[in-house]
Amino acid sequence: MPAFFRSRAGRQWLSLMALGAAIWVVGALLELGDRLAGFVQEFDDYGADKLVLALAVAGTMSFIYSVLRITDLRKEMELRAKAEAKADWTATHDHLTKLPNRYAFERAVFLQKRAKIDEYSDEWERNVTIFCVDLDGFKKVNDLIGHNGGDALLVEVSKRICAIGSADSVYRFGGDEFLIVATGLSEQLEERLSRLLIQAVTRPVYINGFAVEVGASVGYDRWQQGEPLEDTAHRADLAMYEAKSRGPNNYLAFETPMRDKVAMRASLEAKLRVAIKKKAIRPFYQPLIDLKTGEVCGFEALARWTDDDGVSIPPPVFIGIAEETGLITVLFEDLLARACRDALAWDDHITLSFNVSPVQMEDRLLTARIFKALTLNGLPAQRLEIEITENALIQDPASAAAILDELHDAGVQIALDDFGTGYSSLAQLARYRFDKIKIDKSFIATYRDDERQEKIVLAMLALGVSLNIKTTAEGIEEPRQLNHLLHLGCDIGQGYLFGKAMPAEETRIFLQSRSKRLVAG
Ligand code: C2E
Ligand code: MG
Ligand code: MG
Repeated sequence: MPAFFRSRAGRQWLSLMALGAAIWVVGALLELGDRLAGFVQEFDDYGADKLVLALAVAGTMSFIYSVLRITDLRKEMELRAKAEAKADWTATHDHLTKLPNRYAFERAVFLQKRAKIDEYSDEWERNVTIFCVDLDGFKKVNDLIGHNGGDALLVEVSKRICAIGSADSVYRFGGDEFLIVATGLSEQLEERLSRLLIQAVTRPVYINGFAVEVGASVGYDRWQQGEPLEDTAHRADLAMYEAKSRGPNNYLAFETPMRDKVAMRASLEAKLRVAIKKKAIRPFYQPLIDLKTGEVCGFEALARWTDDDGVSIPPPVFIGIAEETGLITVLFEDLLARACRDALAWDDHITLSFNVSPVQMEDRLLTARIFKALTLNGLPAQRLEIEITENALIQDPASAAAILDELHDAGVQIALDDFGTGYSSLAQLARYRFDKIKIDKSFIATYRDDERQEKIVLAMLALGVSLNIKTTAEGIEEPRQLNHLLHLGCDIGQGYLFGKAMPAEETRIFLQSRSKRLVAG
């Protein structure tokens, strides 16, 4: 049955036609036409013919009026339908790349696809794989060439992805994340498509004369019959995060342990919140030794957390979660305040080194927080040294420079931590005023056995001398490493050879035993 007859208007039209036909039949049977003619003749003197004519004219005019109104109404309905379709498109598509968005995936398109998949009779066609693609280093592109440049890159990347998958199966899921729904792929083809996606994304994109490059992490999984496709997409997402954690331009198929890892991460996050609230995370202190005199010249505060089950969680793990969840600020304020108080027990020439995470450089109140901790706990600014890594400088170099200048002006010293492992260039480093460079422990651990590493360490030490900046070698574990670094003129040493990070109470004993050793020669 045509759609019109199923609509309310169609049903009304049919009913009226039926009623009209019935009246006409009854009228014909009762010879109403002849009677009307007789009636008009009989009452002709009273103007019955004029009355019938007037009724006929009024009927015709009403009919024409109805047709005009119906035409208007139809036009209005068409306009409304167009506006609705436009609003629907806007809600289900990404304006920049014109790709369907997450909402489209969750709503109509996905449900339709599901219905289609369920209808597929061919086992081969039921092979639905969802790929999740996330760009690596996109934020850096935004920082380097601005948001317009970042937008241009996203448009180009989306075109390249569409050129591989079929266009209606590519979705833009938020910032730099894309989702592709593909059917009929074997395991080998899934891997091949992942590689193709990475190749397509990583080819340089030319924007305003610059060749810009980003990486891509890809995760994928296959749809299990009967499950909502959202579940498949979620697993592809987990696989993508796992691939990303292994470095840029990796791809991985989903495996069950990935889900366990995410569950563990969620439980750790919950525990971390409680631990921070209960102040269960404490600063420990690792000595920094002046290699020329052998004296302790400072302590680096390192966060330590042993959970209720007695398991100690490594700082890179919980600091990473604190950074991602924004808990780092509360943790930082608490640890810095405690460390300032602990440092008061040491001699005045012994400095307190404190790590600042790269994400904290985005905190406009960072310097205010540091000054507050110093003032409230009575530690002179000259006794504090802030350790930052190269990565903290690249996101917003101008604001990083402003933070470092403000700290410097107040007398706080700045050390460049893990030097040699970050992304910054030497030219960029020259923009900042550092008091110290800390050569990363990875160079110290292997440099005696690796000629190239040794040359890099030498170059770093030479850089320190020429810039008139002190150098610290991290991770000194063996006397032969120490002797060699002494020979090369390194200023400060840190490592298990001198001592691991210890609780505040033990630092006093450590200082005493160290000075006794020095006196004994
Ligand atoms: P980092 O600032 O470079 O700290 C030095 C790391 O090297 C510490 O690891 C220390 O225990 C380790 N280390 C020192 N000497 C040796 C050695 O001789 N051999 C070896 N193998 N390792 C040595 P830890 O305590 O696990 O901290 C790791 C990183 O976590 C730190 O690296 C720092 O980036 C971060 N971190 C620790 N505490 C804090 C904190 O309170 N705030 C922030 N933002 N980051 C922190
Ligand atoms: Mg450090
Ligand atoms: Mg370090």
